[in-house]
Amino acid sequence: MPRAYKKRVRKNDKVNKAIWPQINSSTVAARILSAIRTTPLGIILIAGIAFFHLDDLPGSFLSAIPTISYMILLFGIAITSCFNRSRAFFILLILFLSQLGMSIPIPTHLDHVFALHGIYLTVSLLLPLNLLFFASWSERGILSSWGKRCFLFIFLQVVFVMGLVLSGDRELFNEIGKKLFAFSFMPETPIPDAALAAFLLSGILLLAKRRRNNIHFRTTILGVLAAVAFAHHFHAAQIAIPFFYTVAGLMIIVSVIQDYYAKAYLDELTGLPSRRSLNEDMLKLGSHYTIAMVDVDFFKKFNDTYGHDAGDDVLRLIGKVMKNFKGGKTFRYGGEEFTVLFPGKSLSEAIPYLEALREEIAKSKFVLRQDSKRKKDTNKKLSVTVSIGAADSNHKEISPDEVIKLADKALYRAKENGRNCVSQ
Ligand code: GH3
Ligand code: MG
Ligand code: MG
Repeated sequence: MPRAYKKRVRKNDKVNKAIWPQINSSTVAARILSAIRTTPLGIILIAGIAFFHLDDLPGSFLSAIPTISYMILLFGIAITSCFNRSRAFFILLILFLSQLGMSIPIPTHLDHVFALHGIYLTVSLLLPLNLLFFASWSERGILSSWGKRCFLFIFLQVVFVMGLVLSGDRELFNEIGKKLFAFSFMPETPIPDAALAAFLLSGILLLAKRRRNNIHFRTTILGVLAAVAFAHHFHAAQIAIPFFYTVAGLMIIVSVIQDYYAKAYLDELTGLPSRRSLNEDMLKLGSHYTIAMVDVDFFKKFNDTYGHDAGDDVLRLIGKVMKNFKGGKTFRYGGEEFTVLFPGKSLSEAIPYLEALREEIAKSKFVLRQDSKRKKDTNKKLSVTVSIGAADSNHKEISPDEVIKLADKALYRAKENGRNCVSQ
């Protein structure tokens, strides 16, 4: 093998390793850390630690927590109703009503402490089932006929709990709180067995039934379920319910905001940053950068042969490869075209990364799925190639739009040169 070629292969290997990092212990640790940072798991961990240090805070702050909690839940109810996010709206409403029910005395024949405890037992049982119920639907609107039925469903539960309290029947509450299982998987908890089973069932079903279009919200609701479980487990400490309900409310509000951010800035099909993000990021480029345009080869023919759904799957696959690309920032430009920005990199520095990207896409295989039920076909594996055109700013007073036009011209040259190649 000629030395120059060997050197090039070694150099490409190095770039390949930089672009497609192997999964080793440090990346696993980084992934765990990023999961803790960005998911409800992280919020729950931090909240759990904070809860045991609440006593270090000034008393005036502690006594304000219940009010803060109501305010946050009401704020959540207000913004979710503005955005018409029905599931988040109803869950926040239920949290608000539950907290209210467990703190406001209702006139009854029962003594005050027993009545509040009875409400606590009933809410412990109903809340996890409600979380599971609302997380299982897709968005259907707050004032739609579905929404009106949800209002009725919640109202009937409130009437049910109030009915139990007003009836003054101790036996009913004793029934809810009674031991159901011979064994006890959480011996020290005040949560009754029936409610524990409801928490477990909801948790398992939420974990198991996460669908592609519903993962984010269900993960949030898993976090809410955990926060509610903490609240009810520690409810003897009066601050526990408002504290953890606040955490649950914040998780829902953050998820609604994240959802809107994703809708505005991420492409729905591939999950890559969209054209809007590209336009904003282009304004942040300095005077030294490279832009590449990536276009799938013969994609119309691919769609005509295998169908539009298979075409969408290919775009998803390319999106996945591009998300893992480390050399520059990748975007879906539109249709079957993608853009890569390399801030601070010259054309010659960017080319090896683009070659590696082209190779990675060409060798990625995807399994063709059959019909709408998406059953795997007889293991038919397909792949596509891309052509790439790149241009740099060359330290000149040239706008990113003009560099994109130059990259587009280079892309045409790549197509003319037989496709599956990089041109400059
Ligand atoms: P070339 O190699 O010259 O780029 O040929 P091409 O067929 O890829 O180019 P052309 O511009 O003729 O066709 C692009 C096709 O991409 C047309 C359209 O059906 C398909 N396409 C664009 N957006 C999507 C999408 O979101 N999903 C699917 N499945 N197809 C798309
Ligand atoms: Mg095109
Ligand atoms: Mg094309």
